[in-house]
Amino acid sequence: MNASMDPTPALGAASLTGISAQQRQALYAAHIAGKFPDELGRYGPFGGRYVPETLIPAHERLEAGVKRWLRDPEFQAELQRELLQWAGRPTALSHAPKLSQRWGAEVWLKREDLAHTGAHKINNAIGQALLARRLGAKRIVAETGAGQHGVASAAACARVGLPCTVYMGAIDMERQAPNVGRMRLLGAKVVSVTSGDQTLRAAIDEAMRDWVANPDGTYYLLGSAVGAHPYPYLVRELQLVIGREARTQFQQQAGALPDVIVACVGGGSNAIGLFHPFIGDPSVAILGIEAGGIGMGLGENAAPLSSGRPGVLHGSYSMLLHDNDGQIQETQSISAGLDYPGVGPEHSLLLATGRVTYEAANDDEALDAVRECCSCEGILPALESAHALAGARRWAATHPGKKILIGLSGRGDKDMPTLQRTLIAQLAAEQS
Ligand SMILES: *Cc1c(COP(=O)(O)O)cnc(C)c1O
Repeated sequence: MNASMDPTPALGAASLTGISAQQRQALYAAHIAGKFPDELGRYGPFGGRYVPETLIPAHERLEAGVKRWLRDPEFQAELQRELLQWAGRPTALSHAPKLSQRWGAEVWLKREDLAHTGAHKINNAIGQALLARRLGAKRIVAETGAGQHGVASAAACARVGLPCTVYMGAIDMERQAPNVGRMRLLGAKVVSVTSGDQTLRAAIDEAMRDWVANPDGTYYLLGSAVGAHPYPYLVRELQLVIGREARTQFQQQAGALPDVIVACVGGGSNAIGLFHPFIGDPSVAILGIEAGGIGMGLGENAAPLSSGRPGVLHGSYSMLLHDNDGQIQETQSISAGLDYPGVGPEHSLLLATGRVTYEAANDDEALDAVRECCSCEGILPALESAHALAGARRWAATHPGKKILIGLSGRGDKDMPTLQRTLIAQLAAEQS
């Protein structure tokens, strides 16, 4: 479909014109004062708990459990121990000398690719698995799209000794076969979801159905900062470790705070984890990079903050890719981990307040960034993380000489089939 036929032009921030400048300032002040989420699980107008009656009790029990345990000193000590001794934290902060030289900037990478199972997802998975055990859960259910959250959940469940069932769309199971095998090796049962779109969206629905059908003893381990309250809050709290470590490491290595921090945004968990400890630092610019796919037209990307408008998906009111009739749009991205039509509600708030700038990087820019990061720094980044690199590079071009902190959310080994068809085929042709 060409742009002129597009019935829903890109909106993004333009869809939030109902919020006055005064309201934006009030929301920002409330946010840095720690007022969100409020009692209703809202981040200003966003978030909340828009779920059917049958799902309310399960969410309320989880909310009570989060209140009881998350800040409990014993629970925190147990979590810290697992992060240190099992998950490989703290992850390194790497100065990137060649990228710095090429971009005319000072570039640092927060290396979540070095965390156990290859990405930041383990921070959330082990935290929720430990919480589930404290809550007396007998089994865990999880959803997965590309399989990264499924692998992290399966590993965390093996570690804490709870059986794990992972729901995965039938189409995704075919596309991500190695991760299906990995989950099974780690002891998880993988259930193929043939309903709905047979991808991540249907897998979330199916995992929720299981959770509600087995209210006693089942814990739902959600993989990103999305969904109904308290999930966006719970996942943020478990991912804050990224930003807290990075802030301290950056001050030690650079002797100052960064001028800008950059992360990729799918559901938004690695980004909110990196961003949150810097939100109250006015000198630090914050940049979130969504998947621009093959273009900004309808169905060509997965960038709800850049081109969507508010709506409800999976229990939360947030920016969303949907048409005038409320139909969720198809999404497209070369990176499976960013390929989701919605985004966590705290990011919608950050967009509305203007504190964070959200932009999109397209598939080609991400591939270029993979190549550059590999050859310059000896690091193969995940395709998701490559979007952050591409966005940071663009920012550096208009802000010379600045200090840039990039969240490198994961490693790219999982992307080898895609890279083989694209970058590697190109390299082979150049070398022959
Ligand atoms: C899943 C994933 C993402 C996207 O998820 P967020 O919740 O937006 O962080 C980003 N990078 C990697 C490496 C992932 O595996």
